[in-house]
Amino acid sequence: MSFPSFYRLKPWEVSPDNKVQSCVCVYHRQAALYVKASNKCRRELHFSVKRKRSDAPSCQHQCSCSCACPVCVPGPWEKSNFLTPFMSTILCPRVDGSRHFKLACVLDKCPHCSWNKVQGACPMDQSRLDQDVDVKLLKTVMKDTPKGTTKAVKVECTERMEYREFMERMNKELRSFALHDFVARWQADMYHRSIRDLR
Ligand SMILES: [Zn+2]
Ligand SMILES: [Zn+2]
Ligand SMILES: [Zn+2]
Ligand SMILES: [Zn+2]
Repeated sequence: MSFPSFYRLKPWEVSPDNKVQSCVCVYHRQAALYVKASNKCRRELHFSVKRKRSDAPSCQHQCSCSCACPVCVPGPWEKSNFLTPFMSTILCPRVDGSRHFKLACVLDKCPHCSWNKVQGACPMDQSRLDQDVDVKLLKTVMKDTPKGTTKAVKVECTERMEYREFMERMNKELRSFALHDFVARWQADMYHRSIRDLR
C-alpha cells in the first residue's frame, strides 16, 4: 500500500503530530517527561561564571555549578532519567525489595518526606526561579473529529514558562502520579495473586 492511501485509511485519531511513541499510559509518560525536562532545565540553569574551586564536588547537571546539594551531587543510584530514583527523593525510599512506596508517603500524610527536602531545596535552583525555561510536556488539545465534534487528546508540546511555575506544576503533578502508580501496582499484584490462586 502506498503512503498516501495508508494515510487516507488510517483512523482519524492517529495523527502525525502526536509523537507519543510508547504504549505507556499518559500519567506515566507525563511523569517521565517532567523528570527529563527538569534535568534539561538544570543543565541550562546551573551554568555559573564564577570560578569553582578545583576540589569542589561536581554537579551532575552542569560542570561549572559549585552547589553540593543532593540535587546537584546525588548518590550514584540517583543519577538517571528514570522515575523510581527520582520519586525516592520526594517520597521515603522503598523498603527492601518492596515494589511500593508507603501509602502514607503517597497520600502526603508522612512527616518524613516532602518535595522541599531534596528537589525544592537546591540553592542554585532557588536563585534561578525567575528565569524562563522551555519544557516538553503532555498538553491537552482539542481536535476536530470527522463527525463534526471535538475531542480532547494529549499531545507532547514544548511550552515556555517561568522555572518557578514549572517546579510548582511538577511538584503537584508528581504527587498525583505517585497515587496513580501505587494503584496500578496494587492492581497488578491483585491480578497476579488471583491467577496464582486459580491453580
Ligand atoms: Zn500509568
Ligand atoms: Zn548544580
Ligand atoms: Zn514518607
Ligand atoms: Zn544544588
